[in-house]
Amino acid sequence: MSLKFCQGPDCHTYKTQDRLKGSKDNKTYQTRRRSHMYYGRGNFCDQRCLYDWVAQYIEQGLDHFGRTTEAKHLTQENAWFKDYD
Ligand SMILES: [Zn+2]
Repeated sequence: MSLKFCQGPDCHTYKTQDRLKGSKDNKTYQTRRRSHMYYGRGNFCDQRCLYDWVAQYIEQGLDHFGRTTEAKHLTQENAWFKDYD
């Protein structure tokens, strides 16, 4: 069982007890680390961290992977399933 870090860029800035780690005199708030996370396909500890990431990287992401620049059309050929009336 390996632990993954939350990918939220500001995860360590949220002051919760479970983020406070370290030895007695040297405790710091740290990025959450878990074996399983439920947000953003298992990459984020909570919704806030997911949206922090989106807020910071959405433009780069869209530029990198390509933006939708025209309407997509749902047709018989690309539909997941067909209804028959
Ligand atoms: Zn987080």
